[in-house]
Amino acid sequence: MMTESVLGKVHSIETFGAVDGPGVRFIIFLQGCRMRCRYCHNPETWQGNQKEQYTLRSAEDVFKEALRYRTYWKNGGGITISGGEALLQLDFVLAVFSLAKKIGVHTTLDTAGNPFTREEPFFSKFKQLCDVTDLFILDLKEMDDEKHKKLTGYSNKNILDMATYLSDQGKHMWIRHVLVPGLTDEESGLIALREFIQTLQNVDRVEVLPYHVLGVPEWERLHIPYTLRNVNPPTAEEVKRAEKLMGAFVRA
Ligand code: SF4
Repeated sequence: MMTESVLGKVHSIETFGAVDGPGVRFIIFLQGCRMRCRYCHNPETWQGNQKEQYTLRSAEDVFKEALRYRTYWKNGGGITISGGEALLQLDFVLAVFSLAKKIGVHTTLDTAGNPFTREEPFFSKFKQLCDVTDLFILDLKEMDDEKHKKLTGYSNKNILDMATYLSDQGKHMWIRHVLVPGLTDEESGLIALREFIQTLQNVDRVEVLPYHVLGVPEWERLHIPYTLRNVNPPTAEEVKRAEKLMGAFVRA
Protein backbone atom coordinates (compact mmCIF):
# COMPACT_ATOMS: atom_id res chain seq x y z
CA MET A 1 0.00 0.00 0.00
CA MET A 2 1.30 3.50 -0.91
CA THR A 3 0.81 5.21 2.42
CA GLU A 4 2.57 8.46 1.38
CA SER A 5 -0.17 9.59 -0.93
CA VAL A 6 -3.08 9.12 1.47
CA LEU A 7 -4.34 12.49 2.64
CA GLY A 8 -6.39 13.18 5.73
CA LYS A 9 -8.49 16.12 6.86
CA VAL A 10 -6.84 16.86 10.19
CA HIS A 11 -8.87 19.07 12.51
CA SER A 12 -6.23 19.35 15.24
CA ILE A 13 -3.46 17.55 17.09
CA GLU A 14 -2.78 17.05 20.78
CA THR A 15 0.80 16.07 21.51
CA PHE A 16 0.47 14.93 25.13
CA GLY A 17 -2.94 13.31 25.47
CA ALA A 18 -3.41 11.40 28.71
CA VAL A 19 -6.86 9.81 28.56
CA ASP A 20 -7.49 8.51 25.04
CA GLY A 21 -5.53 5.29 25.33
CA PRO A 22 -2.73 3.99 27.57
CA GLY A 23 0.27 6.12 28.52
CA VAL A 24 1.06 9.42 26.79
CA ARG A 25 -0.60 9.74 23.37
CA PHE A 26 -0.10 11.77 20.24
CA ILE A 27 -3.73 12.36 19.29
CA ILE A 28 -4.85 13.19 15.76
CA PHE A 29 -8.39 14.58 15.61
CA LEU A 30 -9.93 14.17 12.17
CA GLN A 31 -12.56 16.38 10.60
CA GLY A 32 -16.07 15.19 9.79
CA CYS A 33 -18.87 13.34 11.58
CA ARG A 34 -22.32 12.37 10.34
CA MET A 35 -23.91 11.94 13.74
CA ARG A 36 -25.43 14.93 15.52
CA CYS A 37 -25.24 14.01 19.20
CA ARG A 38 -27.24 16.55 21.15
CA TYR A 39 -24.42 16.89 23.69
CA CYS A 40 -21.48 16.93 21.23
CA HIS A 41 -18.70 19.15 22.52
CA ASN A 42 -16.91 19.36 19.16
CA PRO A 43 -19.60 20.47 16.66
CA GLU A 44 -16.87 22.27 14.72
CA THR A 45 -15.63 18.82 13.63
CA TRP A 46 -18.97 17.89 11.99
CA GLN A 47 -18.61 19.37 8.53
CA GLY A 48 -16.24 17.36 6.40
CA ASN A 49 -16.00 19.84 3.56
CA GLN A 50 -15.35 23.22 5.12
CA LYS A 51 -11.74 23.92 4.27
CA GLU A 52 -11.24 26.46 7.05
CA GLN A 53 -11.94 23.70 9.60
CA TYR A 54 -9.10 21.35 8.69
CA THR A 55 -5.61 20.95 7.25
CA LEU A 56 -5.06 18.42 4.50
CA ARG A 57 -2.01 16.37 5.42
CA SER A 58 -0.39 13.17 4.22
CA ALA A 59 -0.28 10.12 6.48
CA GLU A 60 3.50 10.13 6.36
CA ASP A 61 3.77 13.80 7.29
CA VAL A 62 1.51 13.38 10.33
CA PHE A 63 3.31 10.20 11.33
CA LYS A 64 6.70 11.93 11.15
CA GLU A 65 5.41 14.67 13.41
CA ALA A 66 4.11 12.07 15.86
CA LEU A 67 7.49 10.35 16.00
CA ARG A 68 9.09 13.49 17.44
CA TYR A 69 7.29 12.57 20.69
CA ARG A 70 8.26 8.90 20.74
CA THR A 71 10.53 9.22 23.77
CA TYR A 72 7.44 10.05 25.86
CA TRP A 73 5.58 6.90 24.84
CA LYS A 74 6.53 4.71 27.75
CA ASN A 75 3.98 2.51 29.54
CA GLY A 76 2.14 1.60 26.37
CA GLY A 77 1.85 5.15 24.98
CA GLY A 78 1.62 5.85 21.26
CA ILE A 79 -0.72 7.27 18.65
CA THR A 80 -4.48 7.75 18.93
CA ILE A 81 -6.71 8.82 16.07
CA SER A 82 -9.99 10.40 17.08
CA GLY A 83 -12.56 12.81 15.66
CA GLY A 84 -15.08 13.95 14.64
CA GLU A 85 -15.51 10.43 13.37
CA ALA A 86 -12.19 8.93 12.33
CA LEU A 87 -13.76 5.98 10.47
CA LEU A 88 -15.04 8.40 7.82
CA GLN A 89 -11.38 8.62 6.77
CA LEU A 90 -10.62 4.94 7.00
CA ASP A 91 -7.89 5.03 4.32
CA PHE A 92 -5.99 7.70 6.21
CA VAL A 93 -6.27 5.91 9.56
CA LEU A 94 -5.15 2.70 7.90
CA ALA A 95 -2.15 4.46 6.34
CA VAL A 96 -1.01 6.10 9.60
CA PHE A 97 -1.50 2.96 11.67
CA SER A 98 0.28 0.81 9.06
CA LEU A 99 3.31 3.08 9.33
CA ALA A 100 3.09 2.89 13.12
CA LYS A 101 2.89 -0.90 13.30
CA LYS A 102 5.89 -1.29 10.99
CA ILE A 103 8.01 0.06 13.82
CA GLY A 104 6.00 -1.26 16.76
CA VAL A 105 4.18 1.91 17.85
CA HIS A 106 0.97 1.34 19.85
CA THR A 107 -2.18 2.42 17.98
CA THR A 108 -5.60 3.36 19.33
CA LEU A 109 -8.70 4.29 17.38
CA ASP A 110 -11.29 6.39 19.20
CA THR A 111 -14.62 6.00 17.36
CA ALA A 112 -18.38 6.14 17.76
CA GLY A 113 -18.71 3.49 15.04
CA ASN A 114 -21.33 5.21 12.89
CA PRO A 115 -19.65 4.49 9.50
CA PHE A 116 -19.27 0.76 10.26
CA THR A 117 -20.86 -1.64 7.79
CA ARG A 118 -20.15 -5.20 6.70
CA GLU A 119 -20.64 -4.07 3.13
CA GLU A 120 -17.80 -3.55 0.69
CA PRO A 121 -15.53 -1.75 0.11
CA PHE A 122 -15.63 -0.62 3.77
CA PHE A 123 -15.51 -4.04 5.41
CA SER A 124 -12.33 -5.33 3.76
CA LYS A 125 -10.52 -2.16 4.69
CA PHE A 126 -11.87 -2.33 8.22
CA LYS A 127 -10.47 -5.86 8.53
CA GLN A 128 -7.07 -4.51 7.50
CA LEU A 129 -7.47 -1.74 10.04
CA CYS A 130 -8.08 -4.33 12.76
CA ASP A 131 -4.67 -5.85 11.94
CA VAL A 132 -2.89 -2.57 12.69
CA THR A 133 -5.02 -1.28 15.59
CA ASP A 134 -4.08 -2.35 19.11
CA LEU A 135 -6.99 -0.79 20.93
CA PHE A 136 -10.46 0.47 20.00
CA ILE A 137 -12.13 3.07 22.19
CA LEU A 138 -15.81 2.79 21.37
CA ASP A 139 -18.50 5.27 22.44
CA LEU A 140 -21.78 3.55 23.16
CA LYS A 141 -24.37 6.27 23.49
CA GLU A 142 -27.67 4.44 23.94
CA MET A 143 -28.92 0.86 23.63
CA ASP A 144 -32.51 1.62 22.63
CA ASP A 145 -32.45 2.21 18.89
CA GLU A 146 -35.30 4.73 18.81
CA LYS A 147 -33.72 6.75 21.60
CA HIS A 148 -30.38 6.50 19.85
CA LYS A 149 -31.93 7.99 16.73
CA LYS A 150 -33.37 10.87 18.74
CA LEU A 151 -30.05 11.45 20.47
CA THR A 152 -27.74 11.22 17.46
CA GLY A 153 -29.87 11.19 14.32
CA TYR A 154 -28.79 7.61 13.50
CA SER A 155 -29.52 3.99 14.36
CA ASN A 156 -27.16 2.13 16.68
CA LYS A 157 -27.56 -1.26 14.97
CA ASN A 158 -24.32 -1.09 12.98
CA ILE A 159 -22.48 0.35 15.99
CA LEU A 160 -23.45 -2.60 18.17
CA ASP A 161 -22.58 -4.90 15.27
CA MET A 162 -19.12 -3.33 15.15
CA ALA A 163 -18.62 -3.97 18.86
CA THR A 164 -19.63 -7.60 18.33
CA TYR A 165 -17.31 -7.92 15.34
CA LEU A 166 -14.37 -6.51 17.29
CA SER A 167 -15.14 -8.89 20.13
CA ASP A 168 -15.27 -11.85 17.74
CA GLN A 169 -11.88 -10.81 16.36
CA GLY A 170 -10.42 -10.68 19.87
CA LYS A 171 -9.68 -6.95 19.62
CA HIS A 172 -9.13 -5.04 22.82
CA MET A 173 -11.71 -2.38 23.61
CA TRP A 174 -12.47 0.39 26.01
CA ILE A 175 -16.17 1.26 26.14
CA ARG A 176 -17.29 4.78 26.99
CA HIS A 177 -20.69 6.27 27.72
CA VAL A 178 -21.43 9.97 28.09
CA LEU A 179 -23.76 10.50 31.03
CA VAL A 180 -26.29 13.25 30.41
CA PRO A 181 -28.83 13.77 33.23
CA GLY A 182 -32.37 13.15 32.01
CA LEU A 183 -31.14 11.87 28.65
CA THR A 184 -28.67 8.98 28.91
CA ASP A 185 -28.91 8.14 32.62
CA GLU A 186 -32.04 5.99 32.78
CA GLU A 187 -31.57 2.93 34.98
CA SER A 188 -32.94 0.50 32.38
CA GLY A 189 -30.69 1.99 29.69
CA LEU A 190 -27.56 1.71 31.80
CA ILE A 191 -28.38 -1.87 32.75
CA ALA A 192 -28.99 -2.69 29.07
CA LEU A 193 -25.57 -1.25 28.29
CA ARG A 194 -23.96 -3.39 30.97
CA GLU A 195 -25.72 -6.50 29.69
CA PHE A 196 -24.54 -5.82 26.15
CA ILE A 197 -20.98 -5.14 27.27
CA GLN A 198 -21.00 -8.42 29.17
CA THR A 199 -21.51 -10.23 25.87
CA LEU A 200 -18.21 -8.80 24.57
CA GLN A 201 -14.74 -10.33 24.99
CA ASN A 202 -11.58 -8.35 25.65
CA VAL A 203 -13.20 -5.23 27.11
CA ASP A 204 -10.43 -3.78 29.29
CA ARG A 205 -12.26 -0.72 30.50
CA VAL A 206 -15.82 0.57 30.88
CA GLU A 207 -16.03 4.28 31.61
CA VAL A 208 -18.72 6.82 32.32
CA LEU A 209 -17.86 10.26 30.94
CA PRO A 210 -19.81 13.01 32.72
CA TYR A 211 -21.57 15.42 30.35
CA HIS A 212 -20.03 18.89 30.40
CA VAL A 213 -20.93 22.22 28.89
CA LEU A 214 -17.52 23.32 27.59
CA GLY A 215 -18.64 22.84 23.99
CA VAL A 216 -21.72 25.09 24.23
CA PRO A 217 -19.92 28.29 23.06
CA GLU A 218 -18.93 26.40 19.93
CA TRP A 219 -22.60 25.65 19.15
CA GLU A 220 -23.32 29.35 19.62
CA ARG A 221 -20.43 30.40 17.39
CA LEU A 222 -21.73 28.08 14.67
CA HIS A 223 -25.33 29.28 15.19
CA ILE A 224 -26.60 25.75 15.80
CA PRO A 225 -29.52 25.60 18.27
CA TYR A 226 -28.42 23.86 21.47
CA THR A 227 -31.23 21.78 22.98
CA LEU A 228 -29.68 20.96 26.35
CA ARG A 229 -29.58 24.47 27.79
CA ASN A 230 -31.34 23.45 30.99
CA VAL A 231 -29.21 20.37 31.60
CA ASN A 232 -26.46 20.51 34.20
CA PRO A 233 -23.47 18.15 34.38
CA PRO A 234 -24.14 15.12 36.61
CA THR A 235 -23.09 15.25 40.26
CA ALA A 236 -20.36 12.94 41.58
CA GLU A 237 -23.10 10.76 43.15
CA GLU A 238 -24.95 10.51 39.84
CA VAL A 239 -21.75 9.45 38.11
CA LYS A 240 -21.09 6.80 40.79
CA ARG A 241 -24.62 5.44 40.46
CA ALA A 242 -24.24 5.19 36.68
CA GLU A 243 -20.85 3.50 37.01
CA LYS A 244 -22.39 0.91 39.26
CA LEU A 245 -25.35 0.28 36.97
CA MET A 246 -23.13 0.10 33.90
CA GLY A 247 -20.55 -2.09 35.58
CA ALA A 248 -17.69 0.39 35.04
CA PHE A 249 -14.21 -1.02 35.62
CA VAL A 250 -10.59 -0.66 34.64
CA ARG A 251 -8.55 -3.78 34.04
CA ALA A 252 -5.00 -3.25 35.25
S1 SF4 B 1 -20.13 11.04 17.38
FE1 SF4 B 1 -18.76 12.37 18.52
S2 SF4 B 1 -18.17 14.03 17.10
FE2 SF4 B 1 -19.96 12.98 16.25
S3 SF4 B 1 -21.70 14.20 16.95
FE3 SF4 B 1 -21.43 12.54 18.41
S4 SF4 B 1 -20.12 13.36 20.03
FE4 SF4 B 1 -19.96 14.75 18.23
